[in-house]
Amino acid sequence: MTNAGKGIPFLDLVTPHVELQDELMNAAKSVITTGMFVGGPIVEKFERDFAQFCDAKYCVGVSSGTDALRFALMASGIGKGDIVLTVPNTFVATIEAIIQAGATPQFVDIDPRTYNISVDGIREYLQTHPGAPVKAIMPVHLYAQMCDMDPIMAIAEEYGLLVFEDACQAHGSQYFSAKNTRWQKAGSIGKAAAFSFYPGKNLGACGEAGAITTNDEQLATTMKMIRDHGQNKKYHHLVEGYNGRLDALQAALLSVKLPHLAQWNSKRRELAANYNELLKAVPGLVTPFEPTWSKAVYHLYVVLVENRDELQQHLTEQGIGTGLHYPIPLHQQKGYQYLGFRTGDFPVTEKLAGKILSLPMFPQLQKQQQERVVESLHQFCGKQTVSAGIK
Ligand SMILES: *Cc1c(COP(=O)(O)O)cnc(C)c1O
Repeated sequence: MTNAGKGIPFLDLVTPHVELQDELMNAAKSVITTGMFVGGPIVEKFERDFAQFCDAKYCVGVSSGTDALRFALMASGIGKGDIVLTVPNTFVATIEAIIQAGATPQFVDIDPRTYNISVDGIREYLQTHPGAPVKAIMPVHLYAQMCDMDPIMAIAEEYGLLVFEDACQAHGSQYFSAKNTRWQKAGSIGKAAAFSFYPGKNLGACGEAGAITTNDEQLATTMKMIRDHGQNKKYHHLVEGYNGRLDALQAALLSVKLPHLAQWNSKRRELAANYNELLKAVPGLVTPFEPTWSKAVYHLYVVLVENRDELQQHLTEQGIGTGLHYPIPLHQQKGYQYLGFRTGDFPVTEKLAGKILSLPMFPQLQKQQQERVVESLHQFCGKQTVSAGIK
């Protein structure tokens, strides 16, 4: 290691918890000493507060983001024989949920600038498959930047489809709806939205947790049954359900962290703006594109670069942590070959997968650390001449 000094992690899960440790310990203690481990007022309080944070009427706490996606589909009657449109450029849980609900995922390629679902791609699929049993669209707000929701909602209305937001990376992301002439939060637009509180997410639990938001009271009631063995009261199983509840300990810890989320998110936006500025000087590197209608909260800060693997190696040698989100598109994953897609089917996603690199991004990242990341990038990219665009 040359000139590495102290390393810069990709993500810091220690500092925010050390900063809040007294409050977190007290919250944990209050659960342990009351003995209400599953359900109860602590879970309900978090649900109310998170619904409010998302500008949604209802929130149903569940055991993970994957369950959140799955329960939202199941409660809406999406299942066997139904097609759900989504992207191959996402975490595998998006399609796990669709498949486990009994439905079939159909991929649409991404927009080369935002890396999110292509609105033209959705339209094209629907126009070229007039008889297909498409029932829903699952746009993924990847890296905490929202999809272009106005046209997605308009297409859904035109074709009678439901929209489920995969907001698992997008706690607090905003979209300016020209139609409604206001900023709208992730989780407030579709039929329902799924959030993950996996520890590394913008709002993370100290373990596994997730939530679904919706404005539909009936749907919220059904999802509450599905997460709890399909019962509306003990031993009265009205629908087929699962063990998928949010436990009180995680809810209590999340309630300590939630009041800090807005400030952590603005810190992320500030750090992203700083990266954008510093990286202007680095040749051949493409920084994230944020449309005027988007306020992304940078769960991930992802750049595109040629020779990505060598660059990642270079940064690792300098003690700088990075990530790849995601290196293998879902249609090229071994376990999903049976879906029948082939390499070449989604060229924008495929090209992107070879060039993406997620740089260190977390609210406690220091400006000097960012400067060191950029310096290392400069060292490497200064020797490059080709630009990494994917158009
Ligand atoms: C994290 C994530 C999920 C799954 O959430 P879990 O809580 O890990 O089950 C789903 N979709 C996306 C896009 C994610 O990033």
